[in-house]
Amino acid sequence: MKKILLYLNPIEHLGENNYPVLSPLLTMFIITFLSEIFAYIIVKDPMVVGVYAIFLYVALIIYFSFRSGLRGGLIATFITIIYYFYIIYTRHYKGKVLSSGIETTLILGTTYLLLAGTIGWLKQKIDKLIEREADARRRMEAIVEQLPVGILITDSEGKLIQRNKKIDQILGVKIPLGFVLGKDSLNNIKIDGKFINPSESPLALSLQTGKTIIGKEYLYERQDGKHIYLTVNSSPIRKKDGKIIAAASIINDVTEKKEMEARKDDFVNMASHELKTPITSMKIYVEFLIRKIKGDERTLKTLNSIQYQTERLEDIVNNLLDVSRLQTGKLSFNREDFDLGELVTETVEGLKDAVKQQKLTFEEKKNIRVYADKFRIYQVLTNLITNAIKYSKSGTEIEVKIKKWHGNATVSVQDFGIGIVKDQQKKIFDRLYQVNDDNEKTFPGFGMGLYISQEIIRRHKGKIWVESEKGKGSTFFFSLPLV
Ligand code: ADP
Repeated sequence: MKKILLYLNPIEHLGENNYPVLSPLLTMFIITFLSEIFAYIIVKDPMVVGVYAIFLYVALIIYFSFRSGLRGGLIATFITIIYYFYIIYTRHYKGKVLSSGIETTLILGTTYLLLAGTIGWLKQKIDKLIEREADARRRMEAIVEQLPVGILITDSEGKLIQRNKKIDQILGVKIPLGFVLGKDSLNNIKIDGKFINPSESPLALSLQTGKTIIGKEYLYERQDGKHIYLTVNSSPIRKKDGKIIAAASIINDVTEKKEMEARKDDFVNMASHELKTPITSMKIYVEFLIRKIKGDERTLKTLNSIQYQTERLEDIVNNLLDVSRLQTGKLSFNREDFDLGELVTETVEGLKDAVKQQKLTFEEKKNIRVYADKFRIYQVLTNLITNAIKYSKSGTEIEVKIKKWHGNATVSVQDFGIGIVKDQQKKIFDRLYQVNDDNEKTFPGFGMGLYISQEIIRRHKGKIWVESEKGKGSTFFFSLPLV
């Protein structure tokens, strides 16, 4: 199409060396018109075909001298020859006068100029649009190239159409443009110890399913033997009507971050182990002193508060140890068959004395048997109830319930406290996450409790979740499979 426009356009036709030349068709009409006048005024003989032939040659010579392309020249020549045959035929056999040739040429020429002018104008507009599009693409490509993360972009067929420098650095290999996911293989790329099948990559999945994949982690083995950690995000790119036209993947080398985290976890693990011994000694000494001191109420009160604070410190250190055990997969469970209803009753009874400001209620239920680590489930329950106490005002109620449902035992802890906004409800189960609301007073804590609870429940093949409304209260649930 572009080529056809080029042949027709009288304004912007460029030759091989980029200098303007007349379009082949326009050349043809000018030459024909001049030849008609020449034949009419000078030769005065309508049968002088030789003159036409000479002008045809001249037209071709001029044309080729401008070197505007062989195909254009051939088209012009072809049309010119047909036109001459038509003129010769009308003059020989129909006896038409010579001037009809000039008229025909004039009408055709004017029509052509009008047409060519319009097409030329249209072509300019289209060119501008194409240029603008190309500019936007170049800008995009420059940005992608400069990004500090690896980028892979495929078309809708899974063919790689763009990648940047960073991805080559990260992977240590250059995936060639034109590489097709699911068709070509990457024998030299090993992920999580296995050679990767590109058709199962997040990029391919995004293309196939239209899903956005966020933060998938891989351990990648480079050809030099180095292992690096990658996080991969990928998402489909859609047209206005929703049709997938491409997919893009952002790949990040997070090895340094991972190593830092591992060092930090090691430190936390070591520090909490080191802290455990002095805390245990402190507890023993305080207990000893409390037993020894009699009658001195003031000292006893002080010792009691030291004991309380030491226990709190012990809880924090235990939580820290649990978190690092979870991180390293070293948290083990002693499972047994027990009555969850009884455990909930005992836990609530045990906490009732400590809860003075809220009203803690529980409807007793028995014979709800689960196979789990009793101490760890007690830990989850205590955590949920103490959170309910911590995040609600005095005078409000805290309701603990248990029921059997579809082969599961579900425990719920409901409070009428500060509540949690929707977008934070998933995050509160993350490690060290605390809701940070400027208007809210800050509560003591480290954001470990719900993370530990979630991991404990998950590892028992159970579920933990929350339903909450900001300002109205929250209900935390966990469920465990019944025996
Ligand atoms: P911590 O309570 O020590 O900060 P958790 O892991 O137990 O840590 O809880 C994480 C966060 O979830 C808390 O900081 C709090 O913002 C929110 N949260 C937990 N329980 C409740 C609750 N019952 N009501 C409102 N917010 C809560």
